[in-house]
Amino acid sequence: MKLSRYMVPTLKEVPSDAVVTSHRLMIRAGLIRKESAGMYAYLPLGFRVLRKIMDIVREEMDRAGALEFLMPEMTSADLWKESGRWDTMGPEMFRIKDRNGQEYALAPTHEEAMTNVVRQIVASYRDLPVTVYQMNTKFRDEIRPRFGVIRSKEFIMKDAYSFDMNEKGLEESYQAMRKAYRRIFERCGLETIPVEADTGSMGGSNSEEFMVASEVGEEYLLLCGCGYRANQEKAEYRRTGRQGNEPQADIKKVPTPDVKTIDDLVAFFKCGADKFLKSIIYLADGKPVMAVVTGDREINELKLKRALGATDLELAPDTVVMDVTKAPVGFAGPVSDIKIPVVYDLSVADVVNGITGANEKDMHFTGVNSGRDFTVKNEADITSAVEGDMCPKCGAAMSVKKGIEVGHIFKLGYKYTKSMNVTVLDEKGKTVTPIMGCYGIGVNRTMAAIVEQHYDERGIMWPRSVAPFDVHMVGLGKSPEEIARVEEIYDLLVEGGIDVLYDDRQASPGFKFADADLIGIPVRVTVGKTYFSGGEIEVKSRGGSEILKSAKENLVKLVRETMK
Ligand code: ATP
Ligand code: MG
Repeated sequence: MKLSRYMVPTLKEVPSDAVVTSHRLMIRAGLIRKESAGMYAYLPLGFRVLRKIMDIVREEMDRAGALEFLMPEMTSADLWKESGRWDTMGPEMFRIKDRNGQEYALAPTHEEAMTNVVRQIVASYRDLPVTVYQMNTKFRDEIRPRFGVIRSKEFIMKDAYSFDMNEKGLEESYQAMRKAYRRIFERCGLETIPVEADTGSMGGSNSEEFMVASEVGEEYLLLCGCGYRANQEKAEYRRTGRQGNEPQADIKKVPTPDVKTIDDLVAFFKCGADKFLKSIIYLADGKPVMAVVTGDREINELKLKRALGATDLELAPDTVVMDVTKAPVGFAGPVSDIKIPVVYDLSVADVVNGITGANEKDMHFTGVNSGRDFTVKNEADITSAVEGDMCPKCGAAMSVKKGIEVGHIFKLGYKYTKSMNVTVLDEKGKTVTPIMGCYGIGVNRTMAAIVEQHYDERGIMWPRSVAPFDVHMVGLGKSPEEIARVEEIYDLLVEGGIDVLYDDRQASPGFKFADADLIGIPVRVTVGKTYFSGGEIEVKSRGGSEILKSAKENLVKLVRETMK
């Protein structure tokens, strides 16, 4: 491909809205252009990379025995209503109507649509197990589209769904996908950390996210030397036990005018934040509940939701807090007669002589002890693990890393097959509901994550497997004779089966080299002065500094070696 006829609009300037490296480099290297917030066009060079990633994904899915489909991107509201998700998907789902008023969703995911196709086809145990997949556009009205293609409103996902006769079968399908995912990311040159993730209703180790460690990651990962790895949404931690041996003090009501936040309280009472019983009122599926944790901890709303078995959870508005506690926000506590359900974090019972709101304006209790002043009935892990917390498996201190989620595998269970009435006959002619798994990879996000892991101050450094071309050839001829000699080398490489991007533009060597480094093709071949005078062609790998010299006759061989 000749660069003069290609479209690679490289930029020196960094676009102002690009705050992460991959976004900056993908724009600067001429791979993508913004259409509007959260939507990007892939230019030819960018699309080449995306296609290479898709090819790898496809090869590995096929190798794992999954069957490729192409599904409509518009999905009928009826299917979403059948599963119950028309009402629960919320504003992230784009909804549209046709001229007759029929409703559709621009698919944010395809569980319903795939389940609907599969149920029309499978009839008996002979048809299962089956894993189906597609690579197609997904639409999500993200609250905060950002970081370029890492979080966009429209993106390509590889989504796969497995259907099995029983849990044992599901485990096998799940492991096959797990293996395929490891291979996919490895082949893409990505180092990933698989972490345990939240499983919603399934429980256990039935969901893993594939994370790429990165400062720009939006997820927090808890990691331990023993091998325990979990997303913060899910990570557990070992509790430290009862707070010291001090004897129980008497409970006292103390005036605390305008002392509301944990920081205010720490300053006022001059004690550690872990002495406070922070009590927050939520609405769980519309009904008020109180969550009590120690003041040094953040409530993990996903864990709380799970503990409550709720589908919807939000902070209660001030009016509800007033109504339930008879006090303004900041003075809630579990001691005085509270008429709503209360969930206690696992550490609350260990607090000795704690301090908590008295459910009365400007009043707190001190000397509060569980068992005597309140009873912990409903206890659960509802706080987030943080750096330094003890590993739930081995007790060692865990560390925290930020990560980008590139893939997710998940045992779904019977959620869709039950709600959508999928049945098959088993060997004995008995009706059985198949069990499902689902498996997603964000293709565009994977591309950005590869850039996040492979760049230097001059630009991108593509792993060979996903590089847009094998070789970036810089031609530095001026006269028609020189240019003809450069073209000869280009033809030679192309005939040698090498995918070449040939910079034939009339520009300075410095300009061309800078572009080559920015674009990041793994091997650079320079045909210039040393060739015209002494027959030597220069070969350099993007990552290295050594410049190898080659005669025309050995060039293809040397390039192939350098590519490795
Ligand atoms: P996130 O927590 O980042 O929003 P998710 O849990 O919503 O991700 P899934 O529904 O599991 O993601 O989708 C599968 C994969 O699709 C993700 O692992 C990710 O790689 C990709 N993905 C999800 N949302 C986006 C988005 N808005 N833009 C680009 N890729 C996305
Ligand atoms: Mg999401």
